[in-house]
Amino acid sequence: MKTLIRQATIIAMGGPEGDAPFTGDILIEGNAIAAIGRDLGAHPDATVIDGRNRLAMPGLVNGHLHSSEQFFKGRYEKMPLEVWLLYAYPLLMGPQIPERLLYLRSMLVAIESLRGGVTTICDCFFDPPIFSIERLGTVFQAYGDAGIRANVTNSVINIPVLDTLPHAREIMPAELQKLLDGGAMITGKAYADYCEAAFRAFDGGGGGRLRYMVSPSAPQRCTIDLLEACSALAISHDVPFHTHVLETKTQAVTGHEIFGKTLIRYMHDLGVLTRNVTIAHSVWVSDEDMALMGAADCSVVHNAISNQKLGAGVAPLRRLIDAGVNIGLGTDGASSNDTLRIFDVMRVAALIHAASGPDYARWLGASDILKAATIGGAHTAMLDRQTGSLEAGKRADLILLDTDNSIYTPMNDPRKHVVFGENGSSLRLVMVDGEIVFRDGRLTTVDEAEIYREVREAVPAWLAEHRAVEDRNRVFEPHMAEIHRRATTTDIGLDRYAGDMPAWPGTNR
Ligand SMILES: [Zn+2]
Repeated sequence: MKTLIRQATIIAMGGPEGDAPFTGDILIEGNAIAAIGRDLGAHPDATVIDGRNRLAMPGLVNGHLHSSEQFFKGRYEKMPLEVWLLYAYPLLMGPQIPERLLYLRSMLVAIESLRGGVTTICDCFFDPPIFSIERLGTVFQAYGDAGIRANVTNSVINIPVLDTLPHAREIMPAELQKLLDGGAMITGKAYADYCEAAFRAFDGGGGGRLRYMVSPSAPQRCTIDLLEACSALAISHDVPFHTHVLETKTQAVTGHEIFGKTLIRYMHDLGVLTRNVTIAHSVWVSDEDMALMGAADCSVVHNAISNQKLGAGVAPLRRLIDAGVNIGLGTDGASSNDTLRIFDVMRVAALIHAASGPDYARWLGASDILKAATIGGAHTAMLDRQTGSLEAGKRADLILLDTDNSIYTPMNDPRKHVVFGENGSSLRLVMVDGEIVFRDGRLTTVDEAEIYREVREAVPAWLAEHRAVEDRNRVFEPHMAEIHRRATTTDIGLDRYAGDMPAWPGTNR
């Protein structure tokens, strides 16, 4: 089957034009881009899509999200990470979510992503305490059914939470500590066996659209044998070692208090800071950390909105880029962001770094952001040979935006309209792997109304159970707040907060 997009405004993000917009044609054959150029001539055997008043660009990449938060949008606010985690990822857990809700939750992620022009997602979901191949299969099933490209992983933690936070053992009362300790934790070997089974069962599914990746939650939350096992798996399967590092100041203090070094230096010294490593956040990294990350050729997924929702600070993005670190964009979960719209993340990321200082030559611009949202993001997913740019031979993952509206009229630089003006409302067509999955307001792969109906019917009862779980965890909140307060008053020689919010009472910060 052939499709020819005729005379669209194209931002290819690769090939001879780079990100420079031009008017041209795109020929799609099967699941791949067969040709792209200013005039490909007539192809009588192709279905023609009129590209006039359309902007064609690569599908967006959401380099970091957690489907486990999808039912929590619009639920929390005004909490830093360490406090919010108590409710979104409760320490005293409830039962695992029923299988059908697991499917619906993942399907909502796919629907929202495709409706926002995202063709590739990296889903790092949590499903403790049991690692189940069947339940992982349910998540893959949803992404397979929706027709999205997805890297999926079931994230792992095997260190008791109180040993991952600075001063937690001093601050948390003994009777509460007892509630959190105990219970066998998964070993590196057992997680590796689980991952090998997951690679066999799912990696390469959906005609190559679906990949399994490994995800140690964070270096301070995993034993050394587990980090080493994850690193070996990522390298041998050529997939990301997808992790969280230095999102908050509390985590920066964790490195100094627990390991006597930064968490990046800790990963480096263990030999697990490799080119397979994709780091979500990277807000509180030091100059030396950035140099190590650049030398290792690793990637960062920048979650500009989530970092502000959780008050984590502003990541030093220009300096990471200067250090040679590849950058992608992520929404993070739908609870620390409330949407999965990468267009929103693009706009915020394009604006917030100007708050870092007056040297405007170093502010981020539309080209930096477009790169991070497409080919840079594909690189963070280790999928840059398949997707992220419109080039002959690559998989046909693309979007068409309508430019016959107020966002693009009059047209100046299309790149700047997309980054500073687009909110997703211009989206007319989404193609993943050569298949049109969204067109003129409707997903072609999923009965959305039926999914929403089932969610509205089934999820409130589950959320009521979750409210009971939240209530049981509230007892920890004052102590988590104190851990946060104590860590954020510690001087670690760098500051990632913007603005001049008054210090905590009686301290400098
Ligand atoms: Zn995250």
